[in-house]
Amino acid sequence: MAERKIHWIVEPVDGIAGQTSEWRTAKPVINYELCTRCEQCWLYCPDECIEIDDERYPHIDDAYCKGCMICAHVCPAHAISEEVEDEQIIVEAES
Ligand code: SF4
Ligand code: SF4
Repeated sequence: MAERKIHWIVEPVDGIAGQTSEWRTAKPVINYELCTRCEQCWLYCPDECIEIDDERYPHIDDAYCKGCMICAHVCPAHAISEEVEDEQIIVEAES
């Protein structure tokens, strides 16, 4: 039976302890040609890992994003898509 790794983050954590890049299976990617700079993704991200630049465009900090894709679900312009990062972890979790 394949070894399963289950990670729980119940609240945002600063520093190395909160970094998600080693276990995240997918991450959001912003299409800036569709982004209307409404800031909904920034407002709803539970990990506060989206920053807004001086021109009001959002930028995701991959080191802390856990890939929950809430930002994609709330984006009214459908400007955020999901990019799979580690298909092996997904297959193990589903078996
Ligand atoms: S929610 Fe979508 S349209 Fe709004 S700022 Fe974020 S990426 Fe851009
Ligand atoms: S996937 Fe989740 S944690 Fe990552 S930027 Fe979007 S809302 Fe935040």
